[in-house]
This record gives sequence, C-alpha cells and structure tokens, in this order.
Amino acid sequence: MAAYCGKYKDELIRNAAYIGTPGKGILAADESTGTIGKRLASIGVENVEENRRALRELLFTAPGALECLSGVILFEETLYQSTRDGRPFVDVLAAAGVLAGIKVDKGTVVLAGTDGETTTQGHDGLAERCRRYYAAGARFAKWRAVLSIGASRPSQLAVDANAQGLARYAIICQENGLVPIVEAEILVDGEHGIERCAEVTELVLAACYKALSDHHVLLEGTLLKPNMVTPGSDAKKASPEAVAEHTVRALLRTVPPAVPAIVFLSGGQSEEEATRNLNAMNQAAAKDKKPWSLTFSFGRALQQSTLKAWAGKEENVGKAQAALLARCTANSQATLGAYAGNAAGGEGVSESLHVKDYKY
Ligand code: 13P
Repeated sequence: MAAYCGKYKDELIRNAAYIGTPGKGILAADESTGTIGKRLASIGVENVEENRRALRELLFTAPGALECLSGVILFEETLYQSTRDGRPFVDVLAAAGVLAGIKVDKGTVVLAGTDGETTTQGHDGLAERCRRYYAAGARFAKWRAVLSIGASRPSQLAVDANAQGLARYAIICQENGLVPIVEAEILVDGEHGIERCAEVTELVLAACYKALSDHHVLLEGTLLKPNMVTPGSDAKKASPEAVAEHTVRALLRTVPPAVPAIVFLSGGQSEEEATRNLNAMNQAAAKDKKPWSLTFSFGRALQQSTLKAWAGKEENVGKAQAALLARCTANSQATLGAYAGNAAGGEGVSESLHVKDYKY
C-alpha cells in the first residue's frame, strides 16, 4: 500500500517544505497551562489566562522576530487568543508568513512493568480535534514521545509503543490536513556518554521510520523533531563539533531523504549552547551529503532570556522583544552554518535550562 495520497497531499508537502526553509525555524510556544505556570513562576508572574496571553502577544509581535520563523507551535488556548487590540494570533502570524502549529498530544502515561518509561496519549478524538484546529487556521501539529536512557532503558516495549503512537498520530494529522511533527525526544537525563546517546537515537529513529512506513505516512509531508546527540546531563559536555558529528551521522543512518526538514528541540541546553550546536551541525553537514534542512524548533532555548527581560512588566516589553529577536537571528544564522557567536548577550543566554524529567 502506498503512502497517504488523499486530498491534502500537495498542501502537506508544500507546508512541510516551507517550514524547513533555510534561514527559518520554529518557535515552540506550546507549553501546557501547567508548564507555562512553572516558567511564569520563575519570574514571579501569576499563571492566569491574561498573563499567558500577554506573554504570547509579546513573542508574536516582537519586531523582526517573525522574519526568522516559518512556524510557531501553540497550545490550544493560544490558538483562539488575540492581541490586546483584537487581532487573532493566527492572523498576526499568517500576515508575516508564519504557519500556526498546535500541540495535539495529551501528555504521557507510565507503561506498566517498565522502569518508569512512558507512552504518549491523545489518539481518542484526535481526527475531530485536527479538523477543528485546521478550521481555526493551524497547518501543522506536534506530538511529543519521550524516551530515556538507563541500564534497562529504553526497553523494546517503550521504543515500539512510542513509534506506533507517533505513526498513528502522524497519519491522522495528514488525513486532516496538518503536517505532523514527529517528536521522539530522548531525554538528556543521565550519566551516559555521547556514544550511548547516538546508539539509542539510531535505535529509536529506525523504529519510528519503520512504523511511519507501516502506517502509510507520506514522509514528504512530515517533519522530524529529535534531540541532538549529546552526553547525558551528568557527564562531561562535548564540543559543538562532536555534537554535530554524532548527530548528523545518527540522522544520516536513519532518516529517509524524503523528509524535508529536521527541526531540533533544545532539550534543556542553554540558549547559546543550542545555537552553537545547530550551527556546527550545518557546518558539518555542508561537507557531508545532507538531504534535509537542519533547523530549530526550540522552546526553552528561544524564550529564556526573553522571559527574564520581561519579568511580567509592561515597561520591559521592548527589552524582552529585543532579546527574542537576538535569539531568533542567531538561530536563523545557525541554520545556514553562519552564526559567528556574537548574539547580543541577554541575561540567562548561557544558563542551563535542564529540568529533570521535563514535561511539556
Ligand atoms: P525545548 O526546546 O524546550 O526542549 O522544547 C521544544 C519542544 O517543543 C518540546 O516538545
């Protein structure tokens, strides 16, 4: 049986390719209400709808920032919100050529009989939700599967359950017009070295692409969102060149050339670290055969210095938007392997953003 070739085929291919345009990337602003609450608490701001809306307005109206972006991932609440002067966020993004994405998973649940491993839920009613989100202007979706590294992790059960879950999600999205971002995040938590991360990344991605093929997913209309291949959070850090070499090699071995773009998560790296690693990957890949574009879909590593600069105060909005523009520009350059390491240094750009067992 062939890959999906229904009524959205051409649109899916067009939108996925557009998101991967070199020089552009994705801002992941889809923190659930609980997760954004923790980010707001870190700057002393109360987790109420108006504050969540105000933060997202600050991000989406930052002068110049949207030029570096091809997509923004939203949480359901944000998809239906507007600027203070009444312009729907989706329209603000569309006017700047930025596609709206939507987080559609419902978080993780523990797999019985494993060492605390999880699978991601949210398939029930997914087709119906995708139809509603498409009608509201969304054109791509995100589903986060989470794996971890340990003595008995990842188990084959966790690898298989997450690959199947991602593939089922992906085809439901495509049948309803949304480009699925296939996110298989291997958490950085642990003492393992970079080689072990590379081995697990290859194992997980190979399983995902087998499942996507089995489910007839149209790869040209998907995006992959993986972790970068790095040592564990309790091991000595590797240089950007080593991260680049291991990451690009793992991807070349497992991700078919039909996939238009790979959009990395930042996974607890500092803003500057994530940018430098992405830049090194594009420099390394330029020398190699590189079938897909390598860009960003950062959450924490695009928002940290912006949040700090804002601190919930109206008078800081300009300063916070300048911090976002600095990170967006640096990451845009990194997608071209052209980041010179000279982004304006806002507060917190080099701060580790690692949170053990991070929930999104
Ligand atoms: P981080 O860049 O903060 O890891 O998050 C990106 C994301 O969307 C994870 O699902």
